[in-house]
Amino acid sequence: MTLPQEIIRKKRDGESLSAEEIAEFASGLSTGTWSEGQIASLAMAIFLNGMAREETVPLTLAMRDSGAVLDWSSLPGPVTDKHSTGGVGDNVSLMLAPIVAACGAYVPMISGRGLGHTGGTLDKMDSISGYISQPSEAAFEKAVRAAGCAIIGQTADLAPADRRFYSVRDVTATVESIPLITASILSKKLAAGLQSLVLDVKSGNGAFMARHEDARALAQSLVEVAEGAGLSTSALLTDMNEPLATSAGNAVEVKNAVDFLTGKARDGRLEQVVLALAGQMLLAASLASDGEEADEQVRKALAKGDAAERFGQMVAALGGPVDFVERSDDYLPRAPERIAVKATRDGFVTGVETRTLGLAVVELGGGRRKPEDTVDHAVGLTDTLPIGSEVRKGDPLAIIHAHTSIAAEQAAKMVRAAFRLSEERPATRPPVLEAITR
Ligand code: URA
Repeated sequence: MTLPQEIIRKKRDGESLSAEEIAEFASGLSTGTWSEGQIASLAMAIFLNGMAREETVPLTLAMRDSGAVLDWSSLPGPVTDKHSTGGVGDNVSLMLAPIVAACGAYVPMISGRGLGHTGGTLDKMDSISGYISQPSEAAFEKAVRAAGCAIIGQTADLAPADRRFYSVRDVTATVESIPLITASILSKKLAAGLQSLVLDVKSGNGAFMARHEDARALAQSLVEVAEGAGLSTSALLTDMNEPLATSAGNAVEVKNAVDFLTGKARDGRLEQVVLALAGQMLLAASLASDGEEADEQVRKALAKGDAAERFGQMVAALGGPVDFVERSDDYLPRAPERIAVKATRDGFVTGVETRTLGLAVVELGGGRRKPEDTVDHAVGLTDTLPIGSEVRKGDPLAIIHAHTSIAAEQAAKMVRAAFRLSEERPATRPPVLEAITR
C-alpha cells in the first residue's frame, strides 16, 4: 500500500499515477481512509497537472465499482441513455427517453437536480403530482420494463466515491477539471449499467463551458474514456447561446415537453436537437443502420403518438396520474402571477443572455440558492422569443410566471436586460454544431 501523501506528491510533481495508486485513492474515498485534506490536495494536483486517458479510465472504473452496478441483462432490448452538460430551457430528456423507448430501446435515465443557473430534469419531473422520482430499485426496474423508460434521481448506492469526491471538489475550486468531470459523469453512467451512451455537450452563454473549444475537449475526453471503459459513446456539441425551449422552469418545461410529444407545439431548435440526439441513440443502440433510418423511426414514433404514450406510461408507472398526457394542465401547478416583459423598441432579437434567464428562474424560486432550498415548481418563463424574432415596441419578449407581483417585477427587470434588440436581422445559427465519435 502506498501512503496517500506519496500518491499526492507524485501527481504534484507532474508524474502519472499507476492503476494501483488510482485504485487506492478510490478506495480511500469510499472507506474514509483518505482525509478531506488529502482528497482536496490530490484534486488540486490533478486540476493543475492534468491526467492522461490511461489514468482517467482506471479512476472512472474504480469510482464505478465503489457501489452497486445495475444489471439490465434480462431486458429484451438494448439499454441506452443520454447525458447533458446542462442548460436553460433544456427539457430534451423528457422527450428523448420516451421517443427512444418507443423505438425499441430501454432508457433507465438517472438524472440530476438543477445546478447553478441551469435546470434539472429531476426537479421538472417532481412538478408532476404523485410522481415518485426516488423509487426503490425494484420499482425503477418495473417502470423501465413497463414503459421502456424511467427518469429518476441519483440513488445513494451508485458510485458513492464520486459523491464524496464531488463534495470536496465543490468547495475547493477543483470542479472545472476535464479528467475529473469525465470520471465523475462516466462513473455514474457506467454504474447505471448502460450498453451505450450519447452525450449532449453544450457551449455558449448559457452553458457551463462557454467556449466551443473547451466543450469539444470535454466531449473528446468523455468519448475516449467511455470507450476505454467499454461503453460505446458518441457526443453532439450543441449551442446554448439561447434557451432551447421557449419555456424555462419546471412545470412549464413539462408542459412544453407534453405539447412537443403530442404534436401540439414544437420549438424549432429544440426539435432539431431532440431529433439529432434520438437518432444518435438509435445508432448507438444498433436499432438503426444509418442516420436516415434512425430519423425515420424517430419521426414515426412521434407522429403515431407512441412516444407520447410511453411518456404517459412512465408517469403512471412511477405513481403519477394515469391520464397525465391528456390532462397535464389539470395536474401541473400554476403560478398566480403572470406578466409580460415587453420590447422597448422595434427590431430583431439579436442575442440573449441565457445565463441571466436561468438566474431569473432561480430568483423566482424555480431553482436553489442553497442545496437544502425547496423548489417552487410553478414559476418560470414561457413564450421566450428565439433569436431572430422580429418585434414591435410593446410586443412580449417573454411571460413571467411568479408567486408574487414583487417577484414578477424583479424577474422582469432581469429578463428585459437579457434581451438584445437591434435593427438588423441576425444570421441563423444551427443548434447542432458538431458530432464527436471514436
Ligand atoms: N457533473 C458531474 O456529474 N460531475 C462533475 O464533475 C461535473 C458536472
